Amino acid sequence: MTLVAEDRKSKVQETAQTAESVVAAVRAEFPYLEHKINGRTPIFLDSAASAQKARLCIETLQNALTRSYANVHRGAYSQSAQSTLAYEKARKQVAEFLGAKSEQEIVFTSGATAAINLVAYSFGANVQAGDEIIVSELEHHSNLVPWQLLAERSAAAGKPIKLRFWRITEQATLRLEDLAELLSSRTKLVAVTHASNAFGSIVPIEQVAEMTHKAGAALLVDGAQAAPHLPLSMKELGADFYAFSGHKTYGPNAIGVLWGRSERLNVLPPWQGGGEMIREVQLEKSSYREVPARFEAGTPPIAEAIALGATCDWLASQPRQLLHDYAVGLVRTAHERLGAIAGLRIHGTATDTLPIVSFTLDGVHPHDLATFLDSRAIAVRTGHHCAEPAHRALGLNGSTRASFGIYNTFEEIEALANGVAEAAEFFGSAG
Ligand code: PMP
Repeated sequence: MTLVAEDRKSKVQETAQTAESVVAAVRAEFPYLEHKINGRTPIFLDSAASAQKARLCIETLQNALTRSYANVHRGAYSQSAQSTLAYEKARKQVAEFLGAKSEQEIVFTSGATAAINLVAYSFGANVQAGDEIIVSELEHHSNLVPWQLLAERSAAAGKPIKLRFWRITEQATLRLEDLAELLSSRTKLVAVTHASNAFGSIVPIEQVAEMTHKAGAALLVDGAQAAPHLPLSMKELGADFYAFSGHKTYGPNAIGVLWGRSERLNVLPPWQGGGEMIREVQLEKSSYREVPARFEAGTPPIAEAIALGATCDWLASQPRQLLHDYAVGLVRTAHERLGAIAGLRIHGTATDTLPIVSFTLDGVHPHDLATFLDSRAIAVRTGHHCAEPAHRALGLNGSTRASFGIYNTFEEIEALANGVAEAAEFFGSAG
């Protein structure tokens, strides 16, 4: 049935209304948004750095610490057994959130950074002289520096490897043709982000995976930014390793996840030694447990894992595609409204994007702009956002970044645009 224009319009309005009511309900789940800064409701536009915490995360964390805390996998008493069950249930919840085949593919780490370092260390232990690792220029430093360290370690061990760089375009996107030129039988691994933390650009991971595997290499995807926004299925994505952080996913701090395809994870050596990861310890040598325990040395972040599991469950129960589409609407509006301000330039113009917008205002230092916006209770980030090479490639020293979470609204975009326009006037922007 073809919809006549009026019907079409009302369908669009209906969808927008549905999304708005979902966002309103979501907002009610974030206690941070209930408090006031100098009498104003905070407009929090820095979720890409760290997101506000869902009520369920806070309550689960509190409950796990006050009423049911004990170490896991060790105690002979009932509370320890219950903690262990709750901790392992969280692993299952995270596996479901990621669309993983099994919870055995989920390793708890202290964050996305640690998850990537784990792979760089353990997978990196098997590199041979002449192997190549492809890293994109779009990366957060967390998915670049660990590979530089691996290159240094390998060179010191007499088996030098080469890092090859997948350059970005002027739009802060990555071209598959450029990857094709870098891939060869020497490629051991491709390390790339699912989405840029600085410019929002989403990378077509399914296609990257196909190309990488055709070359016989492994694919590590940094999902720190994508996990809070995109519905995910590890079964379909095609990556071999996927990393994300709890604190950007409306969950607790100091916890993150490495997902690894079983065939890949199971053959990796441990990266840290200590309790939990061992099978038997002799004075000279030890043997190690199966994955994932092999990668979880020491007492894990127990309450945080339990709260992350609950948060992932809650997030997965939301209409994620609807929320993502709404967020894309926010970023498009931000582009329109900010783009109309004289002297303002938006950097990164990928069509497939997360709700992240980075911009510069001629003649105004990003820090001054952020301080001005802060006086209106609008929180934005400034600097290179730990993506210095990507900024440099675009000829930038830094930028101002507004990044939206699942709780942001069109009114907040309006307030941002008005605030930036006032700042342009106040500072006499060169535009
Ligand atoms: N990768 C990306 C794309 C990120 O945005 C971040 C955090 N800004 C990280 C990795 C590192 O995450 P964490 O600091 O939580 O380990």
